[in-house]
Amino acid sequence: MLEKLFSLGYSKTFAERYHELWGERALAIAEAMEKPLPRCFRVNTLRTEVPRLTKLLNKKGFQFKRVPWTREGFCLTREPFSITSTPEYLNGLLYIQEASSMYPPVALEPKPGEIIADMAAAPGGKTSHMAQLMKNEGIIYAFDVGEDRLKETRLNLSRLGVTNTILIHKSSLHIDELGVEFDKILLDAPCTGSGTIHKNPERKAGRTMEDVKFCQSLQMKLLKKGLSVLKKGGTLVYSTCSLEPEENEFVLQWVLDNFDVELLPLRYGEPALTKPFGIELSGVIKEARRFYPDRHVTSGFFVAKVKKL
Ligand code: SAM
Repeated sequence: MLEKLFSLGYSKTFAERYHELWGERALAIAEAMEKPLPRCFRVNTLRTEVPRLTKLLNKKGFQFKRVPWTREGFCLTREPFSITSTPEYLNGLLYIQEASSMYPPVALEPKPGEIIADMAAAPGGKTSHMAQLMKNEGIIYAFDVGEDRLKETRLNLSRLGVTNTILIHKSSLHIDELGVEFDKILLDAPCTGSGTIHKNPERKAGRTMEDVKFCQSLQMKLLKKGLSVLKKGGTLVYSTCSLEPEENEFVLQWVLDNFDVELLPLRYGEPALTKPFGIELSGVIKEARRFYPDRHVTSGFFVAKVKKL
């Protein structure tokens, strides 16, 4: 089994870790990540309605299946020509987005009129999804540090007709300087991205445990800041596209141990790991969710939702 993971290009450290976490399933996960993911899109309800756009696309020969956790989400099963060259795409009636990435905004449930923070926003996939759930009402303060990624975000938000978002080119470690208290916060955290090996195969051998530790520490700092500016009773969704428990379950355990929060149940995905590498975590951690390439045909993804008490 380990030999097979090595032959797919995984470093010894990560092959052994994955084997320890998932046993024989590690190979199924790794093999699923060798195949390209289906191309999925989200209907932009700021510009159109779901039945209207799906009918238009069907007429042009596109076929698709609904993403179970998102009313507006679909994955293409037939794409006679690139959907990105259709007037529908160019006019912002849809956004190309991986299916698991559609879950954090749905889990956060932002409502029209609320004050929301998106602590790591670029290129704006989840920001624009939240804006459509909010019907462009209320405010999203969207932070990112990547200058080029922010330019792309600005173009995306403008193509999609998002008007309730303030883009801030700054680390969200400074979010408290705004002097705003938020109803809801999304932290789609910077991470090692080991769940996106389909797109980034170099990550199989290129990542180290130092990278994992660096991301873990940054995520903890961001969560601490986020929780400090969240209203009491407000909710925060923390997500990553990493497979590593140090970035997901261990960070969540640290949040539960150090802050006055409650973990809220989520409906989709598999329960998060409660005994990764034999380390016993709180049983409630299972309420956080994992998406897997072999089972959900998505990136490897982690989502948790907490309420500030
Ligand atoms: N939420 C985005 C979406 O759905 O389109 C994807 C976000 S990506 C997973 C993580 C982002 O975190 C990157 O764009 C990166 O530039 C940003 N980032 C890294 N460190 C940051 C920090 N200290 N403050 C704000 N953003 C940061």
